[in-house]
Amino acid sequence: MHRINDSLSQLKKQIQASAARAGRNAKDITLLGVSKKQSDDKIIAAIEAGLEDFGENYLQESLSHIELAQSSTVVNKPKWHFIGPIQSNKTRAIAENFAWVHSVDRLKIAQRLSEQRSEALGKLQVCLQVNIDGEASKAGASKNEVAELCLSINQLPHLQLRGLMIIPRARNNYDEQRQVFAQARELMQKINRDHKLTMDTLSMGMSADMDAAIAEGATIVRIGSALFGARS
Ligand SMILES: *Cc1c(COP(=O)(O)O)cnc(C)c1O
Repeated sequence: MHRINDSLSQLKKQIQASAARAGRNAKDITLLGVSKKQSDDKIIAAIEAGLEDFGENYLQESLSHIELAQSSTVVNKPKWHFIGPIQSNKTRAIAENFAWVHSVDRLKIAQRLSEQRSEALGKLQVCLQVNIDGEASKAGASKNEVAELCLSINQLPHLQLRGLMIIPRARNNYDEQRQVFAQARELMQKINRDHKLTMDTLSMGMSADMDAAIAEGATIVRIGSALFGARS
């Protein structure tokens, strides 16, 4: 069996090293373990090893993972982040079961999440997903609509707009990886400046490009295979 303990401490070291190279504090970077298509054993092992944040893409599967964590004997229950595509008939379950949603990509979804979030749970933390490379096959708002969407989402009573999430197309050159992450950082900074917003989150970087993302200001890195091993 894949040793979650080892890969978790390995990843934390890598985050430390990337942060140090970038002159950043590793405490400002959250490791989000992406547990889609992983076994119950691995998820429990990761919780026991101290992983605090889990990312999920598929609603049905995520609910069973959340249930698994709830019923486990582990004292510190993890926080759940929804990072997959969202259909409007799924928003209620997402609003009720997650602390964060990274994949809001249109106003209608944001409005439904806000309406369906119960007061008792506190605000749902959200990022706007941006289709940073303008790929036809990818979800996300287009760059030219991001500012307006941020302003509208920022008005919704039960959401807290935290920042931007991107899934760039794969690049194997480090400098090119940094360039696309820098674009996301600059876009968020510009919107904050122009509209007096206080977004503080860049959800970017996966197993293959985490170092470049941290160099450009990622505050949440989303790591699946490098933590849990290959997906089933
Ligand atoms: C699957 C997934 C990840 C994790 O990818 P790895 O390459 O396994 O690290 C990160 N973000 C999103 C949105 C994903 O769907």
